[in-house]
Amino acid sequence: MLNQKNVPHAANRDCGEGPFDKLVLKGAILIDGTGAPADGPVDILIKGNRIKEIAVGGLSEGALEGAHIIDSNGMYVMPGFVDTHAHIGGTRQGVSADYVYKLWMAHGVTTVRDPGSFNGADWTIYEKERSAKNEIVAPRIYAYTWEHNWDKLDGSLTPSDAYDFVHWAKEKGLDGFKFINRWNPQAIKAVIEEAKKQGLGTMAHLSQTTVPRLDALEAARWGLGSLEHWYGLPEALFNNRTVQDYPDYYNYSNEHNRFSQAGRLWKQAASPYTEKWNKVMDELIELDFTMNPTFAIYEAARDAARAQTAEYHEDYTMPSLWEYYQPDPKKHGSFFSDWTTKDEIEWKENYRLWMAFINEFKNRGGRICTGSDSGFIYKTYGFDYIRELELLQEAGFHPLEVIRSATMKGAELLAKENGTTMEFGIIQPGMLADIVIVEENPLHNFKTLYGTGSMKINPKTGKVERVGGVKYTIKDGIIFDAKQLLADVKEMVKEAKANRVLV
Ligand SMILES: [Zn+2]
Repeated sequence: MLNQKNVPHAANRDCGEGPFDKLVLKGAILIDGTGAPADGPVDILIKGNRIKEIAVGGLSEGALEGAHIIDSNGMYVMPGFVDTHAHIGGTRQGVSADYVYKLWMAHGVTTVRDPGSFNGADWTIYEKERSAKNEIVAPRIYAYTWEHNWDKLDGSLTPSDAYDFVHWAKEKGLDGFKFINRWNPQAIKAVIEEAKKQGLGTMAHLSQTTVPRLDALEAARWGLGSLEHWYGLPEALFNNRTVQDYPDYYNYSNEHNRFSQAGRLWKQAASPYTEKWNKVMDELIELDFTMNPTFAIYEAARDAARAQTAEYHEDYTMPSLWEYYQPDPKKHGSFFSDWTTKDEIEWKENYRLWMAFINEFKNRGGRICTGSDSGFIYKTYGFDYIRELELLQEAGFHPLEVIRSATMKGAELLAKENGTTMEFGIIQPGMLADIVIVEENPLHNFKTLYGTGSMKINPKTGKVERVGGVKYTIKDGIIFDAKQLLADVKEMVKEAKANRVLV
């Protein structure tokens, strides 16, 4: 996981219409992102990059005059999605930024938080700025850096480095910090404290090597912004042990050991609704802590075949990315050699316990965001953001709660972490015009949001048809034809396959 250098920047924007002085989404059914039920038809008036008015029953003739109109009759409109754990990829996966961005935008993702900025801080900042100016086809980017991007880093970060590290990031225009692996917990604490003062965010993957000294509860007490994945949470729930029940052969750097044993971890923690479980949950909520479960990225552990044979791989997974996914002890997340039936059974139970916590955390008022962590473990950008929506529903979320998690909650987290007010994530007058338009009802079936769509019988012909896929993604008042973005990606993949040197 070294810095990726010499990664090309995204190409100049080659598509997208607008922004317009006046844009009207006419006759849409509105899902506003707050958890409110679908409502419509409404006309949504957008001026430039801002939502101006939501007219139930329609705008007047006068208000429509001179407007660019999208006939949205019978279509559903949601806020643009926020992916709170979205790596832009890089040379490791052999994918270009354009490939990644177009897949995100084609699936309605209009904002991402890039954890780690693995392509380098300068690279990521440049992309962020160009996206903000809409010079490239890309979601809004929140760039969180890890310590290795800091040019003054001497060895490993210590508490006394925190001030300089945080101020370096602030001056660069970075938005926050990602902690992973062997951080000194006291350095994490010092960075969180200084970051808070500077209006920068923090997110952590509390790896097993850090967890004995810093679990999710302690990190929350220190003011950590969000817990990524789930590591450190079962440990906070231990009531009859203090370390995971590692077998004697376990080595953290052996990813097969790491992932197969991780699947046996939740059952070592306090059971749902017991005293300890309740107490930890309530304190986390009291601390206004945020969880970013990224269910989708671990899914191959409970059902490897499902992830490996997903129907989108053929047309939309770059051959280099496909190769990156293949079992190889040297690559991250490629632990599928000798992956057993028992491993999958354990992981299914792991998910059950994990999902129970996440769902109840949401029920008690905790903030759950939607992050995909795509680009690893057979999980391709955009597609697996939609999979995350399905898995939140599986955890027990109502589809409206899922959409709220994917929109308003993500926006809320980003605003909270940067000490700003929310400017997107809800469809409401005054907000930025980041909007997803779809032809099928997403509350009925999230599968219709996949770029590859979903099968459905056409009542007129009696034939099964493929429906769905996002129709338009609007970012900053600019309309992108989602199907065209997908076609671009398909072409990139086709070309890469044709040019591939077979060895
Ligand atoms: Zn990640």
